Amino acid sequence: MTSLPETSLAAVFHAPGRPFELAHVPLPILEPGEAIVKVECCTICGSDLHSIAGRRNVPAPTILGHEIVGTVAQVGPGHRARALDGEPIQPGDRIAWSVAASCGSCPTCRRGIPQKCQRLVKYGHQRLQGRHQLSGGLAEYCHLVRGTAIVRLDRSLDLEAVTPVSCATATVAAVLRAAGDLTGRRVLIFGAGALGLTAAAMTTWQGAAHVTVCDVSADRLERARAFGASQVVPWELLDEFPDSDSGSRFDAILELAGAPGAIEKAPAMLDVGGSLVLAGTVFPTRNVELNPEQLVRGLIRIAGVHNYAPADLQQAVTFVSECHDRFPLSSFVEQTFPLEQIEAAVASTQQTRPCRIAILPGDVPK
Ligand SMILES: [Zn+2]
Ligand SMILES: [Zn+2]
Repeated sequence: MTSLPETSLAAVFHAPGRPFELAHVPLPILEPGEAIVKVECCTICGSDLHSIAGRRNVPAPTILGHEIVGTVAQVGPGHRARALDGEPIQPGDRIAWSVAASCGSCPTCRRGIPQKCQRLVKYGHQRLQGRHQLSGGLAEYCHLVRGTAIVRLDRSLDLEAVTPVSCATATVAAVLRAAGDLTGRRVLIFGAGALGLTAAAMTTWQGAAHVTVCDVSADRLERARAFGASQVVPWELLDEFPDSDSGSRFDAILELAGAPGAIEKAPAMLDVGGSLVLAGTVFPTRNVELNPEQLVRGLIRIAGVHNYAPADLQQAVTFVSECHDRFPLSSFVEQTFPLEQIEAAVASTQQTRPCRIAILPGDVPK
């Protein structure tokens, strides 16, 4: 068995407004089905930034970071964790894994909603306590527990393109699954951040006929074209669009911005039988006002998506594998930092609002 250090450097988050603590956290003694992964790359997601800023509550102290790619360093004794391809993982494998690990036996898991397991373990969201302290990506090592969906990654894939698979990309895969078959369909996406741009690219990959992206930022909208958007609409011009005379409505609207106003506008923009999928609202917002008659007469379906199922993670990896040359997926990561520079990394996100920054825990600070 590979010998590992007794502790892992980790950036521990205590509370909004307090600096991260660079601490040495003990590595656990592994149980069957578990693994220790050496973190190669962790991209910082919008949810992490909401937690750091205090806009959403996270149990603390904690190790944040849930978009993680790493190399298996050690596997537990006895039966091994298996990747979704059915093969056991082994030291040296590069992997990504689901943001949430589920028990497989509670009533919610048995209903086929493992992402909402009653005993859910969520990477980058666990209080630093007990055996499972190394649960986030802002550390040198991460402890994978039983019930984690794992996908082996080809080493030829660009780290910056593939690291967001376990949150942004897999969430988008779940959103598209909720929207139904989009082949030949007209899709409107609210939000041109990492989720919205990924959604534009993935709907294009899945054969949507027409992809429109709406955002408040002209810079972000400009990027959307490279991700497959056939049309972009600034938020302030949305009321003049679509032109009601031409009947240019949408078959699906994906709300990935977390904007209550966008949700309120959506039903009137959907064609009969259209779907509205909500996944952007992951922090408290005001209530929205919807007209139920419009929903009834329009046969409108509304679905919420949070976390995702293992198959969505597999779909996300397939998408990145097939499309990393077709769309500029690596461009989400605008800056990289070593773990020791976590404070500078977070400060940079507040100044430049990049889609993603990446923490590379193996890098030595300059
Ligand atoms: Zn996330
Ligand atoms: Zn469960």
